[in-house]
Amino acid sequence: MKRIFSGVKPTGHLTLGNHLGALHRWVEVDQHQADALFSVVDLHALTVEHDPARVRRLSRQAATLMLAAGLDPDVCTLFVQSHVDEHARLSYILECTATDGELRRVIQYKEKGGQARAAGQSVRLSLLTYPVLMAADILAYGTDEVPVGEDQTQHVELARDLAVRFNQRYGHTFTVPRATHPTVAARVMDLQDPTSKMGKSHASGAGIIYLLDEPDVVHKKIMRAVTDSGQDVEYDPDSRPGVANLLEILSACTGGNPKELAGVYESYGALKKDTAEAVLELLRPIRERHAELAADPGHIDAVLRKGAERAREMARPTVDAAYRAIGL
Ligand code: ADP
Repeated sequence: MKRIFSGVKPTGHLTLGNHLGALHRWVEVDQHQADALFSVVDLHALTVEHDPARVRRLSRQAATLMLAAGLDPDVCTLFVQSHVDEHARLSYILECTATDGELRRVIQYKEKGGQARAAGQSVRLSLLTYPVLMAADILAYGTDEVPVGEDQTQHVELARDLAVRFNQRYGHTFTVPRATHPTVAARVMDLQDPTSKMGKSHASGAGIIYLLDEPDVVHKKIMRAVTDSGQDVEYDPDSRPGVANLLEILSACTGGNPKELAGVYESYGALKKDTAEAVLELLRPIRERHAELAADPGHIDAVLRKGAERAREMARPTVDAAYRAIGL
């Protein structure tokens, strides 16, 4: 059976981008057709300025939302990254396989490092090495496929490069993984700035739909989405990114096709109204289930404990093999 690994960073509240780009497919497809592991990758939340209590709270909320969205712990393995030491163990070995040059070329390092410097903050070394830890997350499990949004393509490429390099130099140890993306909404854009992605750690939430936003807030954010001064509803991501984004979101929610849907609408208002309704419909059961699950913390603890045990058992043989292969 094919092995799948993917994760979510607890750096903010989960967004519609996380759901449509990743979580939705994990629930509907991936967990049923593969031996799948899904992780709250909390070590990755420490690469930028962070508040310890907030990271802990957000980790738990992310795990609860993953269950609420429909991940079934009897079918897949759901765990918190820091509960499984193998990730950090393997990361060091892979740091001895990667070069500083290839890490400095990673777009997220350039962007987030630049933002931190501009805010007068120092840049943590872990922001540079973060993609190596992500490679360890993936390679530790002999992962075949990594279902992610398009923003993660470069990171999965690095994991591939490191796996190939390690295997050539020290003998076959790692499966070489590949990224897979959803066919629509692989990159959900910010509703107020449709040229940048809807990211959970952005400072302003006006263009971001959070999975736990109140329904009236979701409605308002979508009705106020920036479109453009045109009149016709056309699917053209380059010149009409705001409208294309709404069409992508609506398609992902209803299973339609953005180009075909464009032909159905004569005004932006009608498109926004239907998009808001579709998103509310998608989020309603998740919100309800989240409230039920959050009321039973013992259950979440038990799921995460069992998930970590299972993940550890799966990762250890590969990580031990990597230590032996490299000469330890
Ligand atoms: P974030 O950028 O929200 O911090 P994470 O690194 O936690 O995202 O990513 C979790 C998953 O959600 C990844 O597979 C990522 O590709 C996906 N994802 C995040 N934002 C978006 C978006 N705006 N559109 C599509 N997918 C996204």
